[in-house]
Amino acid sequence: MTSSINNNAGQPQKSTARPLPPGMVLGPDGKPCKICTSFRNWKPPSSSTKPSTTKSNKGNDTSASAQRPPSPASAGAADENKRPAYCPPDVESLGRATWTFLHTTAAYYPESPTPTQRAHMLQLLHALPQLYPCSHCANDLGTRIQRQPPDVRSRTALAAWLCATHNEVNVMLGKPIFNCSRVDERWKDGPQDGSCD
Ligand SMILES: Cc1cc2nc3c(=O)[nH]c(=O)nc-3n(C[C@H](O)[C@H](O)[C@H](O)COP(=O)(O)OP(=O)(O)OC[C@H]3O[C@@H](n4cnc5c(N)ncnc54)[C@H](O)[C@@H]3O)c2cc1C
Repeated sequence: MTSSINNNAGQPQKSTARPLPPGMVLGPDGKPCKICTSFRNWKPPSSSTKPSTTKSNKGNDTSASAQRPPSPASAGAADENKRPAYCPPDVESLGRATWTFLHTTAAYYPESPTPTQRAHMLQLLHALPQLYPCSHCANDLGTRIQRQPPDVRSRTALAAWLCATHNEVNVMLGKPIFNCSRVDERWKDGPQDGSCD
């Protein structure tokens, strides 16, 4: 799987009449890949403030308003860089959710896992480069896993491996490095001041 970022500042592509927004990542099929791209790069800047057409919400849906498309008027008033909770994920919200799942799973992994538990954890981690929907993220993770295979011998070892791997991605994306000595505080115990209890 490969993908590339559109760098031609919205110039029309060969195969399509519509200009691609700068920053839109192309998927392995050469088409715009929304799940590989940050939401703010999904649309050209000029059209991003325009209210998008939403499906009507007919019927007696009693679910919370966060689960419903708003009226076009309120959608237009929303911050263009913020997405309502009912929208499909972009590369960032998918990443946050996946890191949350992975770090939390590592935090509750046994300190002395059985051979079966180790095998399941390895299967889970090795499946990600095959199945993660952001193709360039999946490729990147696959390369990292090959270079530094997951350490599933214990909870502590797994959490440390995952923290280091996440930090490699942070560095690649220009994000701050996380202090791995605080991984339990972040993902399991909460801060000592009790603010999360
Ligand atoms: C496997 C994987 C590969 C990815 N590859 C790419 C990619 O190639 N390109 C791309 O644009 N995006 C990629 N992403 C998404 C990217 O890593 C972020 O999730 C996304 O940009 C949102 O970042 P964020 O700043 O909200 O925090 P995130 O990086 O999502 O982190 C969420 C929270 O985890 C905590 N945290 C941060 N670092 C660590 C750490 N080292 N250990 C423990 N906890 C930590 C922090 O509290 C942070 O708020 C990938 C995501 C995953 C899961």
